[in-house]
Amino acid sequence: MLVLVATKDLQGTAAGDYCWTVEGELVTPVVAECCTPDTCGCAAGFPGLASSRATTTAKVVDLAHLSERDVRDVIEGALERDGWFELIDPADADELVDEHIECIAAVCASFPVGTVVGRHGSTVFSRTIAQAA
Ligand SMILES: [Zn+2]
Repeated sequence: MLVLVATKDLQGTAAGDYCWTVEGELVTPVVAECCTPDTCGCAAGFPGLASSRATTTAKVVDLAHLSERDVRDVIEGALERDGWFELIDPADADELVDEHIECIAAVCASFPVGTVVGRHGSTVFSRTIAQAA
């Protein structure tokens, strides 16, 4: 399954880069930003679904051993652990997980495997510099 994982690749090549995640953990492009996202950095972060920390660099990878059910379980676990389900109607929990799955799929469908991506607000962009062979 195509997923986004935390990577240190290209870290430090953009102003304000940070990477507090665990290398290779699953990350999501879905973020609830604070009221000063550019100052605090959450405008550019991908939250890690294992560490609950974030990185400004994520990579599109194909992890064949993962099913959508596996990724849903990881997302549900992270949202539960981080307290998000306490803030919403329990009937909306599946919809929130769906949103993460759909956004991860949309990003992964937009870039070749191996692409390092960055995020600003709702925009995800390639940070990989194309090079001639
Ligand atoms: Zn913030």
